[in-house]
Amino acid sequence: MGTISENIRHYLDLIPKNVKVVAVSKTKPNVDILEAYNQGQRIFGENKVQDLTQKAEVLPKDIVWHFIGHLQTNKVKYIAPFVSLLHAVDSFKLLKEVNKQAKKNDRKISCLLQFHIATEDSKFGLNMEEAVSILSDVRFEELKNIEIIGVMGMATYTDDEKTIRAEFAKLVSFFNDLKKAFFQEQKSFKEISMGMSGDYQIAIEEGSTMVRIGSSIFGARNY
Ligand SMILES: *Cc1c(COP(=O)(O)O)cnc(C)c1O
Repeated sequence: MGTISENIRHYLDLIPKNVKVVAVSKTKPNVDILEAYNQGQRIFGENKVQDLTQKAEVLPKDIVWHFIGHLQTNKVKYIAPFVSLLHAVDSFKLLKEVNKQAKKNDRKISCLLQFHIATEDSKFGLNMEEAVSILSDVRFEELKNIEIIGVMGMATYTDDEKTIRAEFAKLVSFFNDLKKAFFQEQKSFKEISMGMSGDYQIAIEEGSTMVRIGSSIFGARNY
């Protein structure tokens, strides 16, 4: 493990240019974020609304903030003025609130639909049927201040590469099916957010366009 500067340089050099690196800075202090920023990193990911708003307030304004965690509807308003991408949208109710708050701020907010691809039990993430039901809802067309630009998923936390690979492949097939059924005409629907510190290489091999890397850039987190 090197310094944050060394780590981020390593990833920026190593990861193909068509794959975006989201530096997951959750629980990390502003000095750490600035160290990565000073090496040219601009996309940072947070998963707590309060941390994100506090950091965004004081850190450089050209940081592109991604919200990567589960977002509660009553908290959307705090990040709606500035957040660039929501990675974990998994209900129509949330989309509707994001649309409402985006409209209030006179902007459009990009979103990814989170899918449940792991074998682990998780409360979060859609299956294909639920995603289709959201996208074919007549009220979906009325949401002019949000844009769905792709999908996101987390593989099972395991050493078994085969399992991880199969789960990422599943997410890619969901992406392709949605593209075909709902987003054929929408060029911006092109993102597949998958891959973290432990599995980003497999994710890239399987077609990731966006990796979310935390601990191997910033070091282990103390909660
Ligand atoms: C914390 C987190 C990451 C980064 O995990 P690392 O293993 O530290 O790279 C990526 N995605 C999500 C959704 C996270 O919550």
